Amino acid sequence: MTEIRHTRLLIVGSGPTGYTAAIYAARAMLNPLLIQGIQPGGQLTITTDVENWPGDINVQGPDLMQRMEAHAVSTGAEILNDHVQSIHLAEKPFRITLDSDALLTCDALILATGAQARWLGLDSEDKFKGHGVSACATCDGFFYRDQDVAVIGGGNTAVEEALFLTNFARKVTLIHRRDSLRAEKTLQKRLFNHEKIHVLWDHVVDDVLGSDNPRIVSGLRLRHARNGAESKLDCKGVFVAIGHTPASELVASQLQTRAGGYVITKPESTETSIDGVFAAGDLVDSVYRQAVTSAGMGCMAALDAERYLSHRHG
Ligand code: NAP
Repeated sequence: MTEIRHTRLLIVGSGPTGYTAAIYAARAMLNPLLIQGIQPGGQLTITTDVENWPGDINVQGPDLMQRMEAHAVSTGAEILNDHVQSIHLAEKPFRITLDSDALLTCDALILATGAQARWLGLDSEDKFKGHGVSACATCDGFFYRDQDVAVIGGGNTAVEEALFLTNFARKVTLIHRRDSLRAEKTLQKRLFNHEKIHVLWDHVVDDVLGSDNPRIVSGLRLRHARNGAESKLDCKGVFVAIGHTPASELVASQLQTRAGGYVITKPESTETSIDGVFAAGDLVDSVYRQAVTSAGMGCMAALDAERYLSHRHG
């Protein structure tokens, strides 16, 4: 029979949210156990230069995440390199099964599973990720001073990214697969009025073009979505902004969620619809989605969990 291991506080996820929660919880003597998941370190491990993490003028995403992990370990948090298979929140203690077949129970649970940027799914897009293809203008826009860049998508994120990129780029082309945007009208107005932005309607990206050595992007091969006509756009940076998917599939049927699958938390809190379950970071946040805001929410979740445990479990 599988041995059951009980822990007071379990944290699922190893991005800035999870590690920050672990640091705070360990320092509150809660002996947290953190399950890293399939991509230890989360989304920041697929970016290169990070220049907006306070205290680091420039740090590589993977380095930053390794340091956060080391920090969490140094405070006494236990890190398990495993992946959660199922989460049962119907009764207490909560039950979690892992890919390794281990069975865990916990009194309080912090969900910090984050979100994944949606990608177009092209081989060339994959090849140039971190070398000209990005899913975060806030993170990478700075590297395209006076260059031509393209943004793909038609939602709020795409329009905000395009507007943000005008701070650096010479020209921003927004490429959308239809002939109208789903972004808010006020954002659309700002987009259409901006002299640096050009919108290319009814176009899809067939390929990211560039060189191998050095690995840099030179443009996009495009196709007209209706008449199939092919064309090429010269650009040095490509920002894919076709939505994010919060990693809520393990809990979506058990917790209250909202459009897009984001877990709902109570105002000014990380409490979810189930007592003892806390959620933070990109799993709940469709607006800010920054490493530093995620870390802040991880801290909030640890403080909320600590308060919950001291009131309910002594
Ligand atoms: P979104 O609203 O789902 O928009 C995604 C866009 O990408 C859509 O225009 C969609 O095209 C396009 N798209 C999807 N798959 C594609 C593909 N394979 N190829 C080409 N284009 C594709 O996502 P989002 O903009 O990231 O926003 C997510 C949520 O966060 C929304 O609820 C949004 O309102 C919210 N948000 C809010 C703010 C804010 O309030 N300031 C800022 C950012 C995001 P179609 O239009 O044709 O479907």
